[in-house]
Amino acid sequence: MSSTPPSSKLGSLDYAPALESKSSATIAAHYGLFIEGAFREASSSQSFSSINPATEEELTTISQANAADVDAAVASARKAYDSVWSKMPGAERGKYLYRIARIIQERSRELAVVETLDNGKPIRESRDVDVPTAAAHFFYYAGWADKLEHAGFGPSPRPLGVAGQIVPWNFPLLMAAWKLAPALATGNTCVLKPAETTSLSAMVLADILQQADLPPGVVNIITGDGSTGAALVAHPGVDKIAFTGSTGVGRQIQRSLATTTKHVTLELGGKGANIVFDDAPLDETVEGIIDGIFFNQGHVCCAGSRLLVQESIADDILARLLRRVDQLRVGDPMDKNTDVGAINSAEQLERIRVLANAGDEEGATRYTSSCELPKKGFWFAPTVFSNVAQTHRIAREEIFGPVLSVLTFRTPEEAIAKANNTTYGLACGVWSEKGSRTLWAAQRLRAGVVWANTYNRFDPTSPFGGVRESGFGREGGRHGLEGYLDV
Ligand code: NAP
Ligand code: MG
Repeated sequence: MSSTPPSSKLGSLDYAPALESKSSATIAAHYGLFIEGAFREASSSQSFSSINPATEEELTTISQANAADVDAAVASARKAYDSVWSKMPGAERGKYLYRIARIIQERSRELAVVETLDNGKPIRESRDVDVPTAAAHFFYYAGWADKLEHAGFGPSPRPLGVAGQIVPWNFPLLMAAWKLAPALATGNTCVLKPAETTSLSAMVLADILQQADLPPGVVNIITGDGSTGAALVAHPGVDKIAFTGSTGVGRQIQRSLATTTKHVTLELGGKGANIVFDDAPLDETVEGIIDGIFFNQGHVCCAGSRLLVQESIADDILARLLRRVDQLRVGDPMDKNTDVGAINSAEQLERIRVLANAGDEEGATRYTSSCELPKKGFWFAPTVFSNVAQTHRIAREEIFGPVLSVLTFRTPEEAIAKANNTTYGLACGVWSEKGSRTLWAAQRLRAGVVWANTYNRFDPTSPFGGVRESGFGREGGRHGLEGYLDV
């Protein structure tokens, strides 16, 4: 496979800047912990700063919760569970969820701006994906709240109690919605721990919960680092832990819960294979490959980070792909024309660099987009490695950045063998015009999600989750109720 530079550039015709205004969001100078329906200072009075990864400017400071604060949050959730939430009829709980969904819609611009400033993702994505999908999850689970006895889990399924929920930094608001909406619909109360680098949208969400008059203590939000998450996992008053994050931390959590009766669901990492058969429609497929790996800077657990192309069309696909990579607009996340924004943190940027360098050292061929990167902030240009072998680190380890590894195959059997040659099992894509071939592949792929002729599509009605080292449990759909019910 040759890795030739693309021949066509956009030329002198370029887009004018189209900046989203920051004025729709007011960011306070400091945020406390959200416990019993109100903001309060952490008992240690310690805080950390949240920065804009595109500029490295400080946005705000946020309270660091310690074990005593976690204890207060769990006690608040228990009280709300016993006195209000577990007794409330499902139809009434549903009204709160509908209200939260509507307020998220009303405040969508503010939420999108906050998410983009804090996370570094393009405003186009926070506006068109993160925020509307978060609202959709609340709408969807609102509908289930009064129908649980018809969900297939017995005549009167019971909630678990207090749910401890820990989310990562790649889709901060959306992951919070994935966790909170089904837990609340089923009658549980919650203690949510956002990621350290992206707590801001959860602070706006706390304000939305107040606006929705959600009874105090039904949702508590504690901010802090990994030690806050570990204290939540270890707290004896928690009945369930729902975790989304890395496989390494997921493993630690499972170990620490092994001797307890707590329920647990884990949504962990991935190394998704995007398989392109020789009959795939080329232009559409290239767009799907781009979306699969460069959406959200590749900070996507289910990213199509391993491209498997049938050998007979590999050169053609690669040439089209590199041409397209060069057209991706990388830069200011607040610009509505931006396709690829900032890397979320200096640590994540370093991790991406180390793995990309391993790609060079192990003999893969690197192509880097010719885009110009901003001087301040954390950036990594879209990158495609061809001539990748299955043994290379870039084919095995989750990079969680805008880096694609391209491998080839000759027969459908070889495609399946290569796709399944991973310790993960979160998502795969299949590109083919033949329905029979797609179904044949889907039956053999070991992954929780298989997309056909599309990639990275998320819908609240559809279950999402992994097998093997990508975790267990499902979020979304009717399946998403099960993790919060005593069944
Ligand atoms: P991470 O380091 O595992 O962190 C996830 C969350 O856990 C953060 O809130 C983190 O807090 C907290 N945490 C850290 N150490 C902890 C501990 N010992 N006990 C309890 N909580 C702890 O993962 P990340 O780097 O933020 O996120 C990227 C990973 O998430 C990737 O591997 C990605 O594939 C995975 N992910 C999976 C899904 C899915 O649905 N399967 C979705 C999105 C992301 P701090 O941020 O404060 O350290
Ligand atoms: Mg930040």
